[in-house]
Amino acid sequence: MQKLLLKNIKQLLQVRAEALKPINGLSMKELPLIENAWLAIEEGRFADYGSMSDFPGISDWKGLDVLDCTGQIVMPCYADSHTHIVYAGNREAEFVDRINGLSYEAIAQRGGGILNSAALLQQTSENELFDQSRERLHEIIRLGTGAVEIKSGYGLNLESELKMLRVIKRLKEETPIPIKATFLGAHALPQAYKTNKAAYIKLITETMLPAIAAEQLADYIDVFCENGYFTAEETIHILNAGKHYHLKGKVHAEQLSHSGGIAAGVACGAISVDHLEYCTKADMQLLQQAQTIPTILPGAAFFLNLPLPPARQLIEHNLPVAFASDYNPGSSPCGNMNLIMSLGCIQYKLSPEEMINACTINSAAAMDVLNEVGSITLGKRANFIITKPISSYAYIPYAFGNAPIEAVYINGLKF
Ligand SMILES: [Zn+2]
Repeated sequence: MQKLLLKNIKQLLQVRAEALKPINGLSMKELPLIENAWLAIEEGRFADYGSMSDFPGISDWKGLDVLDCTGQIVMPCYADSHTHIVYAGNREAEFVDRINGLSYEAIAQRGGGILNSAALLQQTSENELFDQSRERLHEIIRLGTGAVEIKSGYGLNLESELKMLRVIKRLKEETPIPIKATFLGAHALPQAYKTNKAAYIKLITETMLPAIAAEQLADYIDVFCENGYFTAEETIHILNAGKHYHLKGKVHAEQLSHSGGIAAGVACGAISVDHLEYCTKADMQLLQQAQTIPTILPGAAFFLNLPLPPARQLIEHNLPVAFASDYNPGSSPCGNMNLIMSLGCIQYKLSPEEMINACTINSAAAMDVLNEVGSITLGKRANFIITKPISSYAYIPYAFGNAPIEAVYINGLKF
């Protein structure tokens, strides 16, 4: 039986006797911690913790590994509740086009954007796609991510959407962290259906969904609710079709314009609505009546120079705000949650405490894994980060572009 003891921890962050619910807006300022702490792990789970001043005898522990964490901070791993890390190739050519003055919309119109990723993915074998995606997944785990949601949506036909979801299933089986799979067939309208959106929606609801359900390939269903993509009404129709197969909804909402994605998500009991650049006061009031978690993706807003979503107002409405990376090839080719923490503090003026809550407990709630991860709570999976010796936890977002991580442990084992 594997037992691990961390002692002399400078600060043990996000310690909660119970953490099964997201943290609402105003409470996000509070980050419970133990100074000069110890932490015990048994069978891959948190078994006990406390202050070094009342450190108990450990003579009854056999086969104990002890780590001295003097000067180091220990915190639960990040949960990244919104990614598209299963994709083929990269889109840095479009990145350069944008630097030279082309807009994201202009690039999309000439076959770039999501359709570019879809064309590449359709030509890539399942094995090759798995290899590329596993590399990204391992990269983000080494950066501190201990649970991740991954979407399909670059297939845009039955065969390729299934290919993506099968790759996610394999990643689930072969990776030690919790992974949730989201079916995002309604990510864009493929060329073949350019003049017949109704037929594509029918393909999603009547062909793709039953096939995905038959192989149990998805946990969630998602829609890009946006001008030129899918309307609020179509979003509701697609999410309701997913419900029939026991898939909870998620929505890409109000990113490029106010399109009604939040209201559609709330109406369908979505677990989260994500992006929110154009979220209004009325949307916030709707969210107050719902269990749906507003999720901000600062990587995409940063990369595309979009207006910032109203994170502070969402918090002032006492909502449980989550942050995630949106790791994807077109608008956020970065899954480093340490950088997401920095962007939250620097651009959105959230405090380090608010950002840690947004990137651990609240993002875990936005992907339904809060019973397993997101806090240092007895019985939860021992997925945690040991930082390098640093002066305080505020150093993590302060040192932007840097990940001051010494080690990441998953289920009590060094990754
Ligand atoms: Zn996305």
